[in-house]
Amino acid sequence: MELLDGKLISAILKKKLAKETRLFIEAGGKRPHLVAILVGHTAASEVYVASKMRSCEETGFKSTLIRFEETVSEAELLSTIDTVNSDTDVDGILVQLPLPGHISVEKVTWKISPEKDVDGFHPMNIGRMAKNLPCYLPATPLGILKLLEAYKIETEGKHCVVLGRSYIVGSPVSILMARAAYPGNCTVTLCHSKTKHMDDIIRSADILIAAIGKPQFVRDTMVKQGVVVIDVGMNRIADSTTKSGTRLVGDVDFAGVAPKSSFITPVPGGVGLMTIVGLLQNTFSAAKKEIYG
Ligand code: NAP
Repeated sequence: MELLDGKLISAILKKKLAKETRLFIEAGGKRPHLVAILVGHTAASEVYVASKMRSCEETGFKSTLIRFEETVSEAELLSTIDTVNSDTDVDGILVQLPLPGHISVEKVTWKISPEKDVDGFHPMNIGRMAKNLPCYLPATPLGILKLLEAYKIETEGKHCVVLGRSYIVGSPVSILMARAAYPGNCTVTLCHSKTKHMDDIIRSADILIAAIGKPQFVRDTMVKQGVVVIDVGMNRIADSTTKSGTRLVGDVDFAGVAPKSSFITPVPGGVGLMTIVGLLQNTFSAAKKEIYG
């Protein structure tokens, strides 16, 4: 078993990106600028946004955080996105999810200009991805592809089983793993809460990508020997042995599944850090106007 070490690979890729950014600026390009919008004070969102902002600084990007209280109206949020859309100094915009219930994620997603949609959630970018046209790929799937690439994982002709069909992870990653590309060229099965005989499907996976948000759902008896496991899940469970009384675990029971795997991502230290690399990569592409000219 070998770890797919997101900590190591993200550090290498961020360093490479920092160098490319420096050279780009020295050659007269503009400093990439990411604006993050955070609504409310959810602990997990605070941590994710702080980590994204920190990564921008480390890479030589400018970053701006716009904060709103939980009570902000949908109209005010949408109007702020309009303002940032038209600010020529801003290359990338992300609105940290989840949002309070009174704000439509759909409206927010449509409002962000596709040219600045570095999370890759806008229907324009999702449509372009499906047609294999230049676009911002959703940050988590992009991070997963980069991790597979870094470890030269063979994907062609493999059976890739994806658990979860969210529009931010499961659905896009299933499209990407089926594309005529590397990583890709897999035969993909996408499972969700209505899937029957899921254990049998998981057992036939050469590559398993788990994104369902169910702590340690995938057990050792459910996977075949030599499987490549990408665990996207980030679930906090009670653990009286830690200072905080909780612990972060994935959708895969790491202790049980790791010995049967050829490669596996740890949680934390796997996909989460690669997601940030995906976001930075998209922001740099936006500053270079690579996708939309
Ligand atoms: P989500 O919106 O929470 O949706 C969960 C998906 O899993 C749905 O498609 C659901 O099926 C399916 N599902 C739930 N229980 C299932 C079961 N028992 N069997 C089969 N399918 C089941 O998904 P998400 O936003 O992609 O998040 C998934 C996990 O990834 C969460 O733990 C989240 O925190 C984590 N995450 C991590 C990163 C990262 O950077 N590491 C990024 C994003 C998300 P239905 O569609 O039928 O309801």
